[in-house]
Amino acid sequence: MRIAVYSTKPYDRKALEEANERHGHELTFLEARLQANTAALADGHDAVCAFVNDQVGTDVVHQLADQGVELLTLRSAGFNHVDIDTATERGITVVRVPAYSPYAVAEHTVGLMIAVNRRLHRAYNRVRDGNFALEGLLGFDLRSKRVGIIGTGKIGQITARILRGFGCSLRAYDPYPNDEVRDYGVRYVDLDTLFAECDVITLHCPLTPDTHHIIDEEALSKMRDGVMIVNTSRGPLVDTVAVIEGLKSGKIGNLALDVYEEEGDLFFEDLSDRVITDDVFSRLLTFPNVLITAHQAFFTQEALSNIAETTLNNATAYGRGDRTGNELTPENIRPNHGSQPEGEEPAEHEHQG
Ligand code: NAD
Repeated sequence: MRIAVYSTKPYDRKALEEANERHGHELTFLEARLQANTAALADGHDAVCAFVNDQVGTDVVHQLADQGVELLTLRSAGFNHVDIDTATERGITVVRVPAYSPYAVAEHTVGLMIAVNRRLHRAYNRVRDGNFALEGLLGFDLRSKRVGIIGTGKIGQITARILRGFGCSLRAYDPYPNDEVRDYGVRYVDLDTLFAECDVITLHCPLTPDTHHIIDEEALSKMRDGVMIVNTSRGPLVDTVAVIEGLKSGKIGNLALDVYEEEGDLFFEDLSDRVITDDVFSRLLTFPNVLITAHQAFFTQEALSNIAETTLNNATAYGRGDRTGNELTPENIRPNHGSQPEGEEPAEHEHQG
């Protein structure tokens, strides 16, 4: 297939070119993000390949369909940036990479927890500057702390397993609880109980209308003073203005983010010689107890090669008229998407790599 690959970075290109030796598609690498004023670049292609900050809303879907694009192959698990209903109406098949390495994201999540708790981001700079004082670096043992996991799908489950190894006391909230997660010693509770009981809260649910700003002023008011919040899922799960107030009041003791509500204008680019005009983001950067990474939780060698292979395999299968199970339809994206009804075996997460 002729595939226009948007938002290409050199590492994407390398991984896709290697995987394409097995698939033989015609790939056009575009640095541009997919949005209304770049959709025309896909003219003459059968398929479009998009990443997390590409904007594949209603207008862009219509533009792509008008140009004859039949397939939208996402290099991501999340699909909140795509109008699946319109794509389906317009005959565009949408496929994704449901799990390229849940381990990558879970490990980064726990890395952020430790780093922000022990202020490793500050310690690194201090030692390089010849400052060996410990004031301001005081953390707490994770052992025995109550950690609340919101969303116990593939990434949430692995996070739970890692944290069990640390001796944490685990709670979870998921509208679709999973027995295997209970076997890791996780206790499912309702959201308010999780907010009220936990010292650390980590987000692993998808972004949906239900989960938008799941961490807002009201949620924060139910939490323990000094709570740690970690978000490696999607930026809009967290109301940034509310967490800034929570940081100022001391309600939030630690905040670690790999995603940010308005990250589309910032992340994945080197803006180090530009003025950051997002005042909310700039305010976040002023807190000593905030650690932000720029949507890098997925970024491991294993994940990149799995993303490339699954993305191109999705296109190969589509070209042959086969289904992979990675198709997104209006029916299978509704709230229980990606989870298993209580008691059933979880799909695939052990061998996803
Ligand atoms: P998954 O589909 O396996 O699991 C999501 C879980 O969330 C499911 O168990 C589902 O039942 C649950 N859920 C749905 N609605 C919920 C709600 N209202 N409250 C609580 N839980 C709810 O997904 P996954 O592979 O574990 O990925 C989780 C999220 O991680 C993705 O949606 C994506 O946004 C994010 N992600 C981030 C990165 C990164 O680099 N930072 C990489 C991959 C995925």
